[in-house]
Parts: sequence; C-alpha cells; structure tokens
Amino acid sequence: MSSILLGNRDLIRSINRSILLNAIKTQGEVSRAALAHLTGLSPATVTAITGQLIQEGLVFEKATGDSTGGRPPIMLALNPRGGFVIGIKLMEGHAIGALTDLNAAILAKDTIDLADKQVETSVEMLSILINRLVQSSGVRKKQLLGVGIGLAGVVDFTHGIVRQNPFFGWRNIPLGDLLETRLRVPVFIDNDVNTLTLSEKWINRSQPEDNFIVITVGRGIGMGIIINGQIYRGKAGGAGELGHTIVDANGPLCDCGRHGCLESLVSDRALVAQARQVVGPDIADLDEVIRLATAGQAEAVGVLARAGVLLGRQIANLVNVFDPKLIIISGEGTRMGEAFFAAVRTAFHDCVMPGLAEDTEIRVNSWGDDIWALGAASLVIAEIFKSPIQKEERLDQARK
Ligand SMILES: [Zn+2]
Repeated sequence: MSSILLGNRDLIRSINRSILLNAIKTQGEVSRAALAHLTGLSPATVTAITGQLIQEGLVFEKATGDSTGGRPPIMLALNPRGGFVIGIKLMEGHAIGALTDLNAAILAKDTIDLADKQVETSVEMLSILINRLVQSSGVRKKQLLGVGIGLAGVVDFTHGIVRQNPFFGWRNIPLGDLLETRLRVPVFIDNDVNTLTLSEKWINRSQPEDNFIVITVGRGIGMGIIINGQIYRGKAGGAGELGHTIVDANGPLCDCGRHGCLESLVSDRALVAQARQVVGPDIADLDEVIRLATAGQAEAVGVLARAGVLLGRQIANLVNVFDPKLIIISGEGTRMGEAFFAAVRTAFHDCVMPGLAEDTEIRVNSWGDDIWALGAASLVIAEIFKSPIQKEERLDQARK
C-alpha cells in the first residue's frame, strides 16, 4: 500500500513511522520530547519522521497556552482531515456508503441500487457511488486513502476475493482487483462482521481493548474476533461462523444445510417461526414478538428468553476458549430487549467456567444505520495505522 506508506520502502523507518503515528493518535496532543520518551526512539528520528508526517498532512503542530514562561511548547496532534476514506456495506439489493475523515466523522452519505446481481454491473454501480461520495463531500480524489467494503459471507481479505456471498450468489469474485483497477485507489474487502468489529477498535476509542469479541444478532448470527489487537480471520477468511455452531443436532434445518445451528434457533426468522407456533399463527414479524414480550405476554417472553439462553451458553463457551475482556453484542437484534438479554446474562453466568466471568463484560451496543458503513471505513483506517510488519502481503503487492 505505497500510497499510505508514501513510497517509503525502508522497513525500519516504516515501523518507526507507524509507532509514532499510533502514539500521537493515542496521546491526543504530545510534544516531540514526550514522543521520544514514550517510544524510545531518538529525538533525531522523532524529528525526522514527524516532519514527514506534518508534510503529508497527517499530523499538525499546535502551540499550547499553558506555558510556564518562555515560548509555549509545540505540541503535535493527529490531523483527522489529513486524509479521507470511504466505507461501503453491500446489502441485499443496495449498498450504503459513507465518506469519513480519519476519526470516522461522516462528511457524506449515499446509497445505490444493486438489484442487478451481475459482477460487472455491481462494480459499475459501486464506482458511481464512490464518485458521488467524493463529489458531494468536496474532498479531492487524491486525498482519498482507500475504500473499504463489507459484505456477508466468506471473504479472503488478503487477496480481496469474495469467496462466497449469500445475497449475490458470488463465488470467488476478485472484487478488490476489479474495483482497484477501475478506481486507482486501494480497496479492502472483508466480511461485514469483521468490519464492524474493527470499528469497535478504531472509532472514537483512544484505548481500545486488545482482546474482545463482537457478536451480531439479527437476520443471521455473526462474530468478529480481536486477538492481541489484531482481527483473527482464520486460514482463508472463514473464522467467526458462530451462527453455524450446532447446538441441537435434532433442531430445525439451517440455510447451510445442517440441522440445529445456533442461527436456525436464534435468527429473526427462527424467532418469528417459533412465535407463530406458541403465541399464534398471525404473528407478522419480530417487532410484534418484541412488542408482546415487552407488554408481558408470557409466551412471547418465553420465545425470546429461550433464544437468549442459547446465545448465553455459546458466549460462555467462547469465554472459556478465548478469555476475552469484552463481548459486544450488536446488530439489528439488539432491539430484543430485556426478555432476551436477561436470559443471555443468566445463561452465561450459569455456564462459564468459574473464575473467567469476573473480568469479562458483556455490552449491548445501541444500533444505527450508519454503523455498517462506518465499519467498512474503519477497515481502511485500521490499515493506515497498522505497522508494516502486521500488514497483509497483498497491500504491498497490489500497489507496486
Ligand atoms: Zn447453519
């Protein structure tokens, strides 16, 4: 990704640059002397590299007022408008895009129709969406550092290939290369739950957790895993298929062709099917089940509570395996309320190994439409702040 490394081929210098950029981001405002002290780099190295970051527009100097006499110290701060990124979430029938600065503040939002599932048409429509976002934000195209795309299914992030997507029926589509060739900016593609997980690490969090798990509840059940500060994708992008862990081998048929997957018992559609059996055949959708449960209707409460128990047990299993600091539950399903989440917490505490629960927080995130596009944007932001030794090989190869 030479446009972000800006032609600097020297690995040590690139690593030092990444260390300093991250230190400035974490500190907020920091002097060069403090940076040298914090990072262990020599004052000369700090001066040279921060000089380059200032020239690139990623960092700026500001004089502080709180001097104890003499000249006020010059502080360095990250310039969130030093570059811009675009995040796009591909959904069934349409795509949502947002152009943001490096703090993920949104400058422009837009959507585009993707009803035609052909790859060529989709690439064309995504290019139109990206150009519209650049134009309506007033950002110059050369200030665009990259485009991130999140979509459901199995995605090979390293090679930018959509291995399998349920909505478009795509198999092994090199979407990253197709878009990069057309747009001439770096394009990163990942599973949408992974992008959402990265946004939890990168957006408005100066001290993010290094070990946490995001679980999405809604149409499906997804999971993103951060281990030691890095997203874990598995050998080919398939990690995190929590929805297809089998909890009842005699359970209902799942979309994946097996029986009794967590998703076949806890997804929106599964809950509506269960409610039609025990509450009444006229149940229209999940919102009606939630309304009835909130009003205290016992059978509706039972449907959500049984699903909550199943998820809570799986969370206990995950904590036993990964010992994360934090579990974040996100997605459209967070509207299910206390009937569901009280059961999640109780089942979690009943099933987790004694000693592992005390330090683990389960957090339910409030939900908004922007979050998926912001997640895709943070895929690019994550790459900008990554050390070169953590970067995937593709990035350097793709830009050479
Ligand atoms: Zn399944």
